[in-house]
Amino acid sequence: MTTRKRTFTQAQLEAYTLQLLQERGIRLEDIAELVFTLQKDYLPNLDMASCLESVHSVLEKREVQHAVLTGIQLDVMAEKNLLFPPLQEIIGSDAGLFGIDENLAQAIVNVYGTIGFTNFGYIDKIKPGVLKKLNKKQEGVCHTFLDDIVGAIAAAASSRMAHRWEDEAEKKSGISATDAKQ
Ligand code: MG
Repeated sequence: MTTRKRTFTQAQLEAYTLQLLQERGIRLEDIAELVFTLQKDYLPNLDMASCLESVHSVLEKREVQHAVLTGIQLDVMAEKNLLFPPLQEIIGSDAGLFGIDENLAQAIVNVYGTIGFTNFGYIDKIKPGVLKKLNKKQEGVCHTFLDDIVGAIAAAASSRMAHRWEDEAEKKSGISATDAKQ
């Protein structure tokens, strides 16, 4: 494990992340729909195109890509029965007291600050759209990490939009950050 030279580019890492999500049945539009659900009451004139654009931006971040790859890898290994016991049983059965899936998802949520944390908690509780589908137990399918990853990407994309909206509003009102502090 001492290889120093990287054999992949950042663009390849991003492309592989998108491919893996797709292979696991997740369309970016599904995540954009979650963003819409989270933000529609707060951002006037919100449309799906800007939600989708925000999802894309979140997925460009290396921290996010690493979390997606790690989580999906563990789900797939659990499906193939390749994890060491007792982790195989814990992840394979999506055990209630196992919280590492949520902890890993936090790495995604944290990219856009604490508002992401609130969004993530909320969406994890109501489980709209694709999250409901991911939470249905199916024989031979493991989504222990994927549901949290998808929820976290949506939460992060929502936070990003909220921050941007605030910045835009500030620009329009003519108040600069320095003025506001005085
Ligand atoms: Mg989970």
